[in-house]
Amino acid sequence: MTSSSYHGPERRLARRPPDDECPSCGRAIMKPHTGALTLPVNGEAMRVPGCSYMLCPVCGETLTDLDQTYDLFARAHALYRAKHDLLPPEEIRAIRDQHDLTQAALAKLLRLGTNTISRWEAGRNVQSAAMDVLLRLIRDVPATLAFLRRRAA
Ligand SMILES: [Zn+2]
Repeated sequence: MTSSSYHGPERRLARRPPDDECPSCGRAIMKPHTGALTLPVNGEAMRVPGCSYMLCPVCGETLTDLDQTYDLFARAHALYRAKHDLLPPEEIRAIRDQHDLTQAALAKLLRLGTNTISRWEAGRNVQSAAMDVLLRLIRDVPATLAFLRRRAA
């Protein structure tokens, strides 16, 4: 092994930009920051206070890691749910159990994508106000389910 082949890869690595350099402007190191971020939930901009993220002091670019992103959306969904007085995930599950419906069966009745109900119940997404009304009708108005089943047939 020659010394040049041994040191070659190291020199290439040294020329790489640092991992914490701003990916947007490349002119600064990203710094940890706490503040409000605005996230879209069902097309509505939700302002989430007290978020932890990385901020570029030069261009204002923000970055979040996977855990921060998950936490951020969970809090944005909770704020959206509270603002529009929507059913919590466990209540959606309870409505399904009340009528012995699978996630796929309920999705079909409401003409939704097959994974939509599972995302609502896991808190990874939140139902619209219109869908929330339909869920409450299924829970509180006995004839609703029969009506939806006729419509889906
Ligand atoms: Zn930047």
